[in-house]
Amino acid sequence: MKPILVTDGTVVSTAGELQADVRIEDGRIVAIARGLDRAGCRIIGAGNRLVLPGGIDVHTHVNLRVGAEKVSDGFYHGTVAAAHGGTTCIVEHPGFGPAGCSLFHQPEAYRDSGDEEVVVDYGLHGVAQHVDDQVLADIGGLAGQGIASLKVYLTYDGRLTDEEIIAVLQAANRAGVLVCFHAENHAIVSALTREMRRGDCSDPALHPRSRPDYAEAEAIYCLIRLARAAGEAPIYIVHLSTAAGLAIIRKARKEGSVVYAETCPQYLCLDESYYARPDGLKYIMAPPLRRKEDAAALWQGLADGTIDVVATDHCSFALARKRALGSIDIFRAPGGIPGVETRLPILFSEGVLKKRITRQRFVELVSTNPARIMGLAPAKGDIRVGADADLIILDPAREVSLDEKNLHQHVDYTPFAGMNIRGWPETVLVRGRVVIEGGTLRAARGSGIFARRGFC
Ligand code: MN
Repeated sequence: MKPILVTDGTVVSTAGELQADVRIEDGRIVAIARGLDRAGCRIIGAGNRLVLPGGIDVHTHVNLRVGAEKVSDGFYHGTVAAAHGGTTCIVEHPGFGPAGCSLFHQPEAYRDSGDEEVVVDYGLHGVAQHVDDQVLADIGGLAGQGIASLKVYLTYDGRLTDEEIIAVLQAANRAGVLVCFHAENHAIVSALTREMRRGDCSDPALHPRSRPDYAEAEAIYCLIRLARAAGEAPIYIVHLSTAAGLAIIRKARKEGSVVYAETCPQYLCLDESYYARPDGLKYIMAPPLRRKEDAAALWQGLADGTIDVVATDHCSFALARKRALGSIDIFRAPGGIPGVETRLPILFSEGVLKKRITRQRFVELVSTNPARIMGLAPAKGDIRVGADADLIILDPAREVSLDEKNLHQHVDYTPFAGMNIRGWPETVLVRGRVVIEGGTLRAARGSGIFARRGFC
């Protein structure tokens, strides 16, 4: 393959910003400097545009099945949508496997379809849905397969007890595996839900009341203490949604705990008033949308460094299925919203252009930090010599009004419909392959690879 030269762009990396050319050979970045020799290169002009490290979304469910319901995209459409939105690597959270299954069951099942279908690179998290000696022993084996993280739920049927969580944290810490937590107190959520289901439960506005902010805050507080008891094991909180939870994390970090935090665009840009809309069922997700004050606190957390990562929790059950199952009882609607395509443009437009975060911080939140925390660095997450040539050229002037019709997510809605975005990735490279060119898909099904993750 010919060397590629991305010319005259504003390169934003952990080293700062500079006007430079980026030379790519055999899928890697080999030089970053002004006026590099163009002879024999394929030239991709990036004048007046930003050259950024490819987005990394470490929280997707493009291939999820819950009972009889399956999300509508799958690895192909999910990664096509990711690519169009400037995301060059996803890390997928598998759903629960059959009761009692081994830690390897879900990753194996997901690899079968993932390897065949992805157009960007992908990794997998493990999921600990029960605990016994075998599960604990297998955490090291999972790491050996390039799966350096494990998901644990504090709610749903696959949730673990406090004792089990401490055992998992100890084993994971020994194996160099990071444990990611869905932090909502199950007893609070189930008691409130049970209470609400005694009456008419067709109103989506019940949803946030069934999962209050203190359910999240309590779970985060508890997890930080469990991690301490497990010998100060690091923990990662997925989809942080509340000011109350954020305050607990901020305090724990000051006290020396290693707590990573992730939030998602929906918790930054939407709020609980959406449940009162006629299409309120769209926004059924866990945790739910919160108050505007929570969103403001989360933006502050992004700016001051308390929140490390913006991911999506992309989970595209069709709106038609949400309506079919949840019109009479909202608690039966499959939860989750799509967002893998819109994450990076929304954070750029709402964050950088509205001066809530700097361009440097933006790159950290959407690429560098997720790569580092999830074990994809140093190959991914930055523009530097030797790294994978996962790059996006973002046109900061392009305006897009979000609508499911101009997105590639394989689902019948976007929760961000009507939002006006400035700035969109026009060209996307994954390991030096042009995946999106001028907004058009150029990659073949299965051209992405499984990204082995680990900490060196
Ligand atoms: Mn999730």
